[in-house]
Amino acid sequence: MNKPWFRVAIGLGSNLDNPAEQIKTAVQNLQALDSIRHVVLSDLWLSKPQGPQDQPDFVNAVCVCETCLTPAALLAALQTIEQDQGRIKQRHWGERLIDLDILLYANQLIEQPGLVVPHPCMTQRDFVLIPLAQVWPEDDLPNLGKLTELIANLDQSFILNQSSAETQLDTK
Ligand code: ADP
Ligand code: MG
Repeated sequence: MNKPWFRVAIGLGSNLDNPAEQIKTAVQNLQALDSIRHVVLSDLWLSKPQGPQDQPDFVNAVCVCETCLTPAALLAALQTIEQDQGRIKQRHWGERLIDLDILLYANQLIEQPGLVVPHPCMTQRDFVLIPLAQVWPEDDLPNLGKLTELIANLDQSFILNQSSAETQLDTK
């Protein structure tokens, strides 16, 4: 039997070694997987760090795609891409070559060891919600209310500017 495909949103962030290129490389690595299809990337957004301020600004984006992987297998695939690109664990909320988080997995609520979806921190992060709104087709988010209202009610701003427009990738 064919496996079902699920729409997912993946948050991408980088602030080391040409962050915009790191993000594009991660999306290409994702797109290369047989278990991923219909990849669309938001604009890239420049943002100040949420954690320690003695680190470079971040480039953030959100990618929406379809996957036939389970949530746990998708997380493992994202962690493999992070490792392959050379990510080394540093301080909490510190600098990173590439960070790939599962923001949304269809309309599912997931709480497993090491995996919570929707991503628990996303409602406070303009650098996640604003690119998410560019590529996620629904305003109603599972358990979180409306995306437009979350954006309207943000009380902190990290975004510095919209650094480039790269909205559509080759689809397969
Ligand atoms: P950050 O919280 O800054 O993204 P890491 O990328 O090092 O930090 O992730 C820390 C842990 O967060 C991972 O080991 C992973 O198991 C866990 N985690 C929980 N929920 C998620 C999610 N939705 N997406 C990605 N990682 C998650
Ligand atoms: Mg992460």
